[in-house]
Amino acid sequence: MSAGAPGHPHPHPHLHPFDAEAPGVPGAGRTIADGVIELDTLLGGWEHVTAGYLIEGPEPVLVETGSQSSVPVLLAQLDALGLGAEDLAGVVVTHIHLDHAGGVGDVARAFPRATVYVHQKGARHLADPTRLVDSAARVYGPLLDSLYGRLDPTPPERLHVLEDGEAIRVGPTRSLVAVDSPGHAKHHVALHDSLSGVLFAGDAVGVKLPDAGVLRPSTPPPDFDLDQALHSLGRFAERRPTGIALAHYGLLRDPGDVLDEADGTLRRWAAVAESAFRNGEDIAAALDSAFQGDMAGVPEEHLEKLEVMNGVHSNAAGFHRWLSTRTSGGGGSTV
Ligand SMILES: [Zn+2]
Repeated sequence: MSAGAPGHPHPHPHLHPFDAEAPGVPGAGRTIADGVIELDTLLGGWEHVTAGYLIEGPEPVLVETGSQSSVPVLLAQLDALGLGAEDLAGVVVTHIHLDHAGGVGDVARAFPRATVYVHQKGARHLADPTRLVDSAARVYGPLLDSLYGRLDPTPPERLHVLEDGEAIRVGPTRSLVAVDSPGHAKHHVALHDSLSGVLFAGDAVGVKLPDAGVLRPSTPPPDFDLDQALHSLGRFAERRPTGIALAHYGLLRDPGDVLDEADGTLRRWAAVAESAFRNGEDIAAALDSAFQGDMAGVPEEHLEKLEVMNGVHSNAAGFHRWLSTRTSGGGGSTV
């Protein structure tokens, strides 16, 4: 979840909800690796902000549905790929933030044979999204309905809780291996494709929109945990993926460099946040002044997308909560 924190509303005059009749709808996705199709789920009508990935095989699996507002464009693309209602074997979400999982209930309904895979800490919220949606309403404010949509429940018997290391079968020679990867969220799991070698990293590596070209950490409340996030990056590196597929957005083909950069960037952001926190300064302002220069030269329209997906206020609020919780020696966590 990465919208601005409460009290920091951002106007979004350029939102264009998906219109199936409109020109410019992406056709049937784009093959980015052996049997991996990138689907642009067009959050807010923006291209290259939210990605889903279809993993091809005798038992095809979709990674990420995107938000509920993305369901029409997602279903249109799956249909264009020739995927009938009985054909999709599985849907897996890297975590239950609405820009990744908001469409799950709708997609489960459209594909009645598909198993819905989710982290153990996220499963009950897919079955009963009431608390998750309430929490999202507090974070997103009016953007909940104008941009993301909500989340329909998934029947519990359709849910499959993923264990770390568990393999989701896509066919006799292909599986997606679940990699427990908390940090961005406690209910975060990445998927490592045994055939292409691509690691589907959700938000655990950060956000790098192709139109902005800068990798930034994603450290939202309430779960963000620096130590866990760094540990998860280390686990990814150990698996030696051939590429890192970000939910926001696309395949990065230099995984070693990307993971090093993510580690270094996250540590730098955390150092700035911690110093501001200790000095009683505003963390968002400190992050802004330290890192806004990275965005020099990025056109305003692209900055707006980045601010919605990965706003500095959301990151600051996540750092603040993590630092406060650590300082007070514990504390509960909500969705
Ligand atoms: Zn997220």
